[in-house]
Amino acid sequence: MSRTNIARAEVVCACCGDLIAELEAGWFEWVMRLGQAHNGALEGFQIVHHAERCMYNTDRFKGDRYVLNQPLSHFAGAGGLQELAARVRQAPTVEGSSLGLVLWQLARLSELGRRGKP
Ligand SMILES: [Zn+2]
Repeated sequence: MSRTNIARAEVVCACCGDLIAELEAGWFEWVMRLGQAHNGALEGFQIVHHAERCMYNTDRFKGDRYVLNQPLSHFAGAGGLQELAARVRQAPTVEGSSLGLVLWQLARLSELGRRGKP
């Protein structure tokens, strides 16, 4: 399988700040709040390297917070944006500041995909 160079989309890791140069090196994750008070609220959206050092440490999210994730390639494209929009629409509340950044990055990736790969 050929690797997809995404450096032109300037997708930067939310953890280490380095460029995510290939789609296959990226990871998309977010947090769902459980329990009566939150009831599935979404927060903490981020694009990071698919590496333990950059991804959420799930040990930190015990109790009422649950980490959800997918390879970045799953969300890079029109279908991925639609799926994300549907998930966000179904959530009772969404913390918007982190969502704004990932939407911007996904839109860049989608645009890059439409123009054709290098
Ligand atoms: Zn990183």
